[in-house]
Amino acid sequence: MNKKLEKIKEEVTECTNCELSQTRNNSVPGKGNFKSDVIFVGEAPGKNEDMHGEPFIGIAGKKLTIALENAGITRDEVYITNIVKCRPPKNRIPTVTERNTCKNYLRKEIEIIKPKIICILGNTAFNSLLDGKEIIKFRGKIVRKNNQLYFLTIHPAATIYNQKLISVLKKDMKKLFKLIEEIKDGKEIKINIEYTS
Ligand code: SF4
Repeated sequence: MNKKLEKIKEEVTECTNCELSQTRNNSVPGKGNFKSDVIFVGEAPGKNEDMHGEPFIGIAGKKLTIALENAGITRDEVYITNIVKCRPPKNRIPTVTERNTCKNYLRKEIEIIKPKIICILGNTAFNSLLDGKEIIKFRGKIVRKNNQLYFLTIHPAATIYNQKLISVLKKDMKKLFKLIEEIKDGKEIKINIEYTS
């Protein structure tokens, strides 16, 4: 692993900056390929992640793996992290204060990896990073803000209770990795939403 990411991992592991540190079993730092073209950003660790200290290893993680593999990509090829690195009790949505307290870690992960695109998984990441809501209406879209590209899709957990959504996630993953190839080939990318501030 990259030394700077290793340092962030250590900081996250020991972090007590917000109250989620009091109820977690383990912090869950980001994990994956630090040379990845894409960072996936979800909401927060769940029960399995909290037990093992690794992101997206529960049912939602399996759904993400299925969608990635359907696009010809393995988990090891990408970097996966969350808006907050510790599990909120009973999987509640992390508060704005918790998200703001934790965001410095994500900012550093992005600075180090310098992804060509950030894939936002679900409403909490959409809201935290782009002040958005109702991602289901915006999924599949490409956003540019401060010269950083973002791709919007649903959280893999949404596919657990609504089986039809797995085809949506698969479709979006295919689009995302086709898009990444186009970016690497220097092709012009059609931006759907441009943030001017
Ligand atoms: S959620 Fe983030 S800020 Fe809060 S204790 Fe965990 S690592 Fe620290």
